[in-house]
Amino acid sequence: MTRPTFLRLKYSRVLRYNLFVNGKGSARADTAASPTVEATRKPRGAPALAHAEGEWLCGFCLNRVAHDQDRFKYEGKDQFTFYNPDGMRFEIITFTQTAGCQQTGVPTLEHTWFPGCAWSFCVCNRCGQHLGWYYSGAHDFAGLILNRIISSRTWN
Ligand SMILES: [Zn+2]
Repeated sequence: MTRPTFLRLKYSRVLRYNLFVNGKGSARADTAASPTVEATRKPRGAPALAHAEGEWLCGFCLNRVAHDQDRFKYEGKDQFTFYNPDGMRFEIITFTQTAGCQQTGVPTLEHTWFPGCAWSFCVCNRCGQHLGWYYSGAHDFAGLILNRIISSRTWN
């Protein structure tokens, strides 16, 4: 009957690990090799498990809004710094598509940063926060404001 023995060992190991992370078994940490390894491993939070490499999330609600593989190069660049007419500085990353966003407003060429491209607002389709702009006309793409989105890489 090897199977019940195996199960008991497995259970015992988990129990010791739980005691260790709860601080009750720390005195035995030097002799309990595997619980030490498990306890020192980086915590695996939900975001790291739920989001794949290269994804960009809404900085407000963590909705998946864009992916690095959809970066759009405008004249060889996909990251820009601009100032609006009020002098506010925006650092943006450009994408061909933004699955987790929706367009609002009437496109206009007024004060556009990309000649021939009319802008409208790009908002998170879950929480509605303003994340950037959609551009249409000479080129169709989106520009997301860097400090309003979060790279999934920060969790890996
Ligand atoms: Zn959001």
